[in-house]
Parts: sequence; structure tokens; C-alpha cells
Amino acid sequence: MRRSLHIKLVLIMVLLIVSLMVVVGAFLMNSVTGYYINEFYEQIAGAFGRENVDFIRDLQTATPEEEDGGAMVEEVLSAYAGALGVDRRDRNFFVLDGTTGRCLGGSAPEPEGGVAVTPNISKALLGEPGFDSSVTADYMDAAIPITRGGQPYIVYILDNRETARSLNAEMFSLIVEALGLGLIISVLLSFLLAKTMVNPLQRLTGGIEEVARGDFSRKLEVTSSDEIGQLTESFNAMAGQLETNIAELEKAEQQRKDFVANVSHELRTPLTNIKSYAETLAGGVGELPPEMESRFLGVILNESDRMAHILQDLLTLSRFDSGRSELRLTWFPFAKAVDDTYQAVLMDAQNHAHTVELRLPDGLPEVRADRERIMQVMMNIVSNAIKYTPDGGRIVLSAGQGGEKVWMEVDDNGIGIPKGDRDRIFERFYRVDKARSRQSGGTGLGLSIAQEIMLRHEGCLYLVDKEEPGLTIRMELPVWGPGEEGGHEG
Ligand code: ADP
Repeated sequence: MRRSLHIKLVLIMVLLIVSLMVVVGAFLMNSVTGYYINEFYEQIAGAFGRENVDFIRDLQTATPEEEDGGAMVEEVLSAYAGALGVDRRDRNFFVLDGTTGRCLGGSAPEPEGGVAVTPNISKALLGEPGFDSSVTADYMDAAIPITRGGQPYIVYILDNRETARSLNAEMFSLIVEALGLGLIISVLLSFLLAKTMVNPLQRLTGGIEEVARGDFSRKLEVTSSDEIGQLTESFNAMAGQLETNIAELEKAEQQRKDFVANVSHELRTPLTNIKSYAETLAGGVGELPPEMESRFLGVILNESDRMAHILQDLLTLSRFDSGRSELRLTWFPFAKAVDDTYQAVLMDAQNHAHTVELRLPDGLPEVRADRERIMQVMMNIVSNAIKYTPDGGRIVLSAGQGGEKVWMEVDDNGIGIPKGDRDRIFERFYRVDKARSRQSGGTGLGLSIAQEIMLRHEGCLYLVDKEEPGLTIRMELPVWGPGEEGGHEG
């Protein structure tokens, strides 16, 4: 990874430096040429300007009895060569015939094939001064038409741009040197950059490998707030989430194992009992006293009922788990359901000498729920209160409304639940006192089913904290039923 990232960085830097140098170089060289062209025309225009009256006059005024005007113009130009920047090497002047463009003389010998007719000369031949030069051409020139002694002439100044060219060449070599230096620096910098980028990535890779091996304990240190820092943060969050999920999965797996073990155990006990009593009965046909026989048969029947009961509860739970159990939602008065529960358990409570108090306020609303299942929850928690309260206890059944919810609470002064077990009593098969529960026909599934029913109704079932002995358990139910919010009149 280090190598490819590094190569990419070097490439980026090299491309950047080269393109920067090319742009800067082209711009600089263009500017230098432009500057020289400007200087040239300013100098020529200055020389032919109004302030150089003498020069113009000397050029244009023919001396008496002058024979060769062209030679005189050449003489005057030679005298003013300095003002025109003519060095006779890179810059020369020529005197051309104003009508034919023929070269009459100059500061240098006439080039082979004559002076080339440039656009500026063509312009001067038409009587206009020519003062133009392209940046890309390899010369610059100016052609100024004059008349002397009635004869037209053209003063032609030609510069081969050698000065600009040599300066540009020097600049070019400077730029190449700077480019080389820039490349060396960029390669060195890219090492440094690659290090700052690659190191955190390598740490991240190490972290990912650890997570892949199943070790979530190490959190990676976030050393920067840039993208890599954000990536590290996200990675830490992901590892944390993964750890939680795996822990939950492991817990669920353990619960599943416990559940299977519990089911087996719960079914094996009554089955063993049935088997041993049936064997005794079968082995001693006609030998056992009839009352013993009927007691044994009673036990067998009892245990079969118990098994049927457990299987029924398991079936109910399994339907909830698989989502196959539909709620049959209807509107019914909540107070009536509470009262029906109270009436149903009254006899049982009296058998245990419990006093049961019903606190039912007026005006409780109708609720939208599965009445049968809600009654099942109510019966379960009130029956538990009767079961787990020693005879002669006191049980209070109260109900009420809070906002969009109705509630029912069952409070007893029975054996209660030890602190450590409070969180677990909604677990499947969980019973504080197995023997006591079994003796009273409990399966340890009642509260799990009840809670499942309440959750399906988007309500809840929980233990209320209290100081006195006994237990208070409370169910809450949304008036509008599951999946609804408001809208029902009455
Ligand atoms: P069970 O069929 O054993 O009653 P439940 O699921 O209804 O199963 O209850 C689970 C356990 O919670 C019971 O075994 C019991 O230990 C405890 N429990 C439930 N209600 C009460 C109560 N009112 N007082 C004391 N313990 C209770």
C-alpha cells in the first residue's frame, strides 16, 4: 500500500511542478519579448517625435545642390544612430526608395536578396508609418516614410531580437534549473507526506485485522481531525457497535440454549413421574389397594395436564415469536375487563383467605385491544398475586387513566421477589422458587407471555418499585391500540 500511495503522491507533485513551471515560463518569456517590442517602438517613436525637431529637419531638408538624397539620409541616420538604438550588429537602419522599396544604403550591407518587404514596409510605401510586430516573429521592424527634396524615402529600422532571445534563453535555463530543484524537493516532500498519510492508515489496517480476529478491545487513537481522523473515529464506532451486536447475539444464543434445556427439563419431570407411576400400576395389577391405584391415576392425570399446559404456553409463545399470532382488536370498556378479572379471581382469593380490594375510578374509557389476550394478562398477574401471597394476605387491584393510556396495577403483601431476581422474572421459565411455582401449577411462562402480549399492543408490563413487602406489578395500554394515534370519539 505504501508504495502505490507514494508513487501516486510523487506523480501528483511532479505533474504539479512541471505544469506550474511551463505556465510560469511561457508567461515570463512572452512578457520579456513583449517588453522588448514595446521598448523598441517607444524608442523609434521617441526619436521621430516632435521634441527631436533637429533630427526630423536634418532628415527632410535637402541641402542646396544635393545630388544623392538617399546618401544624405543615410548620413543623418548614422549621426543619430544612438537615439535610434542602432548598434550595427543586432539593430540596423536602411534607407529605402519611397516608391520602389529598393535599398539605397544602411548601417549594414544590404542583406542578400535585398531587404525583405515586410508588412511595415508595404505600409510605408503607401505613405503610412509601419509600427507593428508580432510576438512570435523572429524580428521587429519599423518603417517611416519621409520626403527629402521632393523625393520619397523610407527609413527602415530592423532589429533581429537577439537581446530578447538571449535573455529568454537564459531565463529558460534558469527555469529548467528551478524545475529540477523543484522536482527533487517534491520527491523529498512526498516521502514526508506519504509517511503522515500512510502511518495512520497502517494503524487502521492493524486495527481492522485485530477486529477480524475477533478482538474488539483496542480503540484506535484519533490523532487528527482530517478525513483519516474521521475514518478512525468511524472505525472505532463500528468496532464498538460490532462488539455490542456480537455480545447480544451471544446472549440470544445462550438464551436459546437455556430455553431448549429448560423445555426438556420441564417436560422430563412430569414424563418421569407419569412413567414411574404407570410402571408401578402395570407391575402390580390387582395387587395394589384400590385407593392407591386411584391416587396413582390421579397423579398421572395431573402430570399430563401439566405437560399439556406447558405445551400450550410454548405454542402461544412460538406463535408470537413467528408473528403468526394476530391480535383481534375490538373496542371494549377497560373498567369492565378489570372488574371481570376481579370477579373471576374472587372465589380463589377467598379460598386463601385473602382480602381483595378493587379501586376502579369512574369514567375509564373504552380501549382498542384484543380483549381475550388483555384478560389473559390481567388474570395472570392477579393469579400470581394470589399464588405468591401467604394465606390471609391483602391484594389491591387498581386501575386508572393517564393521558392516552390506561393502566392496571396489582399490589400484594406476599413473598415478593428478591432484588437480584426482579429483572429476570419476565424471562421464559424463570421462577424464583421452582418447587412452589410447580406445586401451584405454574410453568414459568405466564409473565413472558403476558409481556409479549403487552408489547404487541404497544403497551408495557413492569414491576413498580416499592418499599413494603410484597410485589406491585403494573400494565399499561394505549387507548387507541397498536399503530394508532388519536382520532376516536367516545
Ligand atoms: P409461574 O407460572 O411460575 O407463576 P410466571 O411467569 O407467571 O410463572 O411468574 C414467574 C415467576 O415470577 C414466578 O415463578 C414467581 O417466582 C415470580 N412472581 C410472579 N408474580 C409474583 C408475585 N406476585 N409475588 C412474588 N413472586 C411473583
